[in-house]
Amino acid sequence: MKAEIISIGTELLLGEIADTNSAYLASQLPSLGIDLHFISTVGDNQQRLVGTLQQAWQRSDVIIATGGLGPTQDDITREAIAELFHEEITIDPDLVKKFEDLFKHYKIDMPRSNIKQAGVIPSAQIIPNPRGTAPGWWIERDNRILITMPGPPREMQLMWANELLPKLQQRMGGTVILSKTLKTFGLTEARVDESVSPFLSAANPTLATYAKVDGIHLRITSKAQTTKEAQRLIAQREVDIRAILDDHIWGADFDTLESIVGASLTAKGLTLASMESYTGGLLANIITNVAGSSSYFKGGLVAYSDETRAGFGLDAQLISRHGTISAEIAEAMATAAREKLGAAIGLGLTAATGPTEVEGKPIGTIFVGIDDGQRRQSFARNYPGNRLQVKQRAVTSALFELRRILL
Ligand code: ATP
Ligand code: MG
Repeated sequence: MKAEIISIGTELLLGEIADTNSAYLASQLPSLGIDLHFISTVGDNQQRLVGTLQQAWQRSDVIIATGGLGPTQDDITREAIAELFHEEITIDPDLVKKFEDLFKHYKIDMPRSNIKQAGVIPSAQIIPNPRGTAPGWWIERDNRILITMPGPPREMQLMWANELLPKLQQRMGGTVILSKTLKTFGLTEARVDESVSPFLSAANPTLATYAKVDGIHLRITSKAQTTKEAQRLIAQREVDIRAILDDHIWGADFDTLESIVGASLTAKGLTLASMESYTGGLLANIITNVAGSSSYFKGGLVAYSDETRAGFGLDAQLISRHGTISAEIAEAMATAAREKLGAAIGLGLTAATGPTEVEGKPIGTIFVGIDDGQRRQSFARNYPGNRLQVKQRAVTSALFELRRILL
């Protein structure tokens, strides 16, 4: 089954609202075994909407439209569908009665315009809307399905989950598509691609790579008749990939580096403190994205000037010997954080974030220092990118190295 989503509304084309309905529906289709081929957006213009529907009707088996079912002049989805199928809209008296009861309940007079929402065509089956007046439509013709739902996300999502998802599941009777994402850090996308290349051309499971701020992600997607078989295909491919990328893989699916580091510190009963300079507090910020991080994170020092560095206990001579962007200083920062804030582990981070090189260090040079009270270590890395990307990657590097040590 090939599916297509159509989002209707001029607001979407003007960029005034983001098309979250499409994203939601797109995320719902894989588990049904429905392949999404297109997402289209069209404004509140009947002629263009009819054109878009016509094209979708020719190339897709399931078409899911949202928006334009309201009572106002610019809500033209019903009219466009009627035109597509050359059918006549008639007012359903039962629906009118329902609307009237609803308005009575809220003690308001029903505007005449609402009657428009009781319009139906012979092919359409009415889908109730528990959170509003506009009903949805389910139309099945010529082995194809056209679904329309109201635009407001809370109305659409409930209608989808309660009515349309089960209806489609029943219609599909089978294929399951599952995905799992493995997250890596420390390799370029080209390098990751190259090392898993035989799997990239496989048909089932498929594999795709994505460059993200926290590294390169690999998404495995399998298709099968049963959930169990789909899971087996993914597990098998995961073993293949782990054998190749090994400890570059730091997590999966909803894992974040900060949550993994946090879980590992908690499991070991350890505390953490950080000191950073050119990342301006981003490291402490990201560490505290995790709910409950106050139980292991003592705090973060941000030194953005030489006086502050000195104030936090960094040796001026050490700085003048090695520069602020150096392995020695990253380690000294780790120790300073650990001692000043009384944590088990100190994490130091310094990086050349641009716009020009600093102390002869090219933009993107990163030093991570870790002091766990027994050993001091440092890691040098270099990543491309603009100022914000280098800051982000420096933080990712620091958490990635800390994770390795904690393991
Ligand atoms: P209403 O009865 O509220 O007019 P409707 O079915 O006519 O419902 P629209 O008028 O197209 O829907 O949109 C109503 C509101 O729903 C929009 O202002 C917007 O807040 C939200 N909305 C519509 N389409 C989308 C979308 N694709 N993604 C996210 N939100 C949307
Ligand atoms: Mg509307």
